Amino acid sequence: MTETLFDLPKTPAIQVLGEARSYPIGRIFCVGRNYAAHAAEMGNEVDREAPFYFTKSAANAVLSGATAPYPPGTSDFHHEMELAVAVGAPLFRASREEARAAIYAYGCALDMTRRDLQGQAKDKRRPWDLGKDLEQGTVLAPLTRAADWDGPAGKKIWLKVDDVLRQDASLDEMIWSVEDILCHLSGYYHLRPGDLILTGTPAGVGAVQAGQAIRGGIEGLSDVSLTLSEAE
Ligand code: MN
Repeated sequence: MTETLFDLPKTPAIQVLGEARSYPIGRIFCVGRNYAAHAAEMGNEVDREAPFYFTKSAANAVLSGATAPYPPGTSDFHHEMELAVAVGAPLFRASREEARAAIYAYGCALDMTRRDLQGQAKDKRRPWDLGKDLEQGTVLAPLTRAADWDGPAGKKIWLKVDDVLRQDASLDEMIWSVEDILCHLSGYYHLRPGDLILTGTPAGVGAVQAGQAIRGGIEGLSDVSLTLSEAE
C-alpha cells in the first residue's frame, strides 16, 4: 500500500467495561421515531410499516465526558438520549436468533441535533445531514457486554440537563425492538463488528445552552455525559 498524503483524525474507540481492549467505531446508524410519544411531540404519526434510518459519521463521534462548543449554524440545539447497540458479528438478512447472537454490547448515547436545521430540511424535503451529522454530535458512553446485562426489557431511560429531568421513559416503549431493527437493517447492509445502532429517543427532547451539563442513563449501563462550552 502506498503512503497516504496526510493522516485523518482518528475516530474514537469506546471503552468496554471488563475488557482491556476498546471497541472501534465503524458506522453509526440511527433509527428515527422509535417512540410514539417522541414522534407525537415532533408532530408526526408513527409509521408502523417499517423503521427508517439516518447515519452519522464516526469521525463526528466523541466519548462520554467530553466538553464540546455550542455548534455553529443553530439556535435550537437539542439532546436526544438513546440506547446504542454494538454489533459483534457479521449480519446479513438476519433471523431473530442470528440478530440476538450478534449483539456484542449495549451503551448509552446522545444523538445531538440541530433541530432548527433538521426542521428546515424536513420542510424542504431535503436530507437531514446538517441537522444530525454535526461535529461532536454523537456522544458514546462505555459499553457493557451483552453477556453482562440482562437486556433492555423493562429498563428505565432518562436524561437530565443541569440535574433537571428532561427525558424519563422505559425501553419497553420502543416501537421496534433491538432484534426488529437488526433484522430489518441487515436486509439493506452487511452489518459487521464496529457498526453501532442508536435506537431512537423517547419523548422530552429539548434545547440546551452553552454552559449546561447533560447526563443520561439507562438502568444497568454506564451513564453518558456532555458539557457544552461557549460557541467558537
Ligand atoms: Mn435520535
